Amino acid sequence: MSKIKVIPCSGIGKVFGLLARESALMVTQEKCPDDTETLCLAHVVTGDNEVVEKIKGETCITMDGCAKYCSKKSVEETGGIVVKSHKVPDFMKAHRGEEHGTGTYLTEDGWKYAEELAEIMVEEVKEIKAGVN
Ligand code: SF4
Repeated sequence: MSKIKVIPCSGIGKVFGLLARESALMVTQEKCPDDTETLCLAHVVTGDNEVVEKIKGETCITMDGCAKYCSKKSVEETGGIVVKSHKVPDFMKAHRGEEHGTGTYLTEDGWKYAEELAEIMVEEVKEIKAGVN
């Protein structure tokens, strides 16, 4: 089985975009480096041949910064199979009133939230590997 692709939106200038990117990096670089990898959304959008080949028909998890779902839509248009799609605001309920930072840095609460988002995806990676999905 090839590595599960975990792809965040680019969300530049928004804290939700930064949270999406940092959580995806935590999954692919720290928590599940053997089972997952991430790809640059800009290359997905521009149809970079190497990236397109890596995505087509492959299992993907996307994390978007808002309801525009740029990552989910681009991955699907490129032929990736999005088995789990999230957007950062979906998990905000328990974090109301917290300051998470800006588009360029995360506060301590922001890092905690990114970790929580990463853990959600880690559990999904485990389920996918176990064939639950
Ligand atoms: S999903 Fe929202 S935050 Fe992310 S790149 Fe698209 S518009 Fe920006």
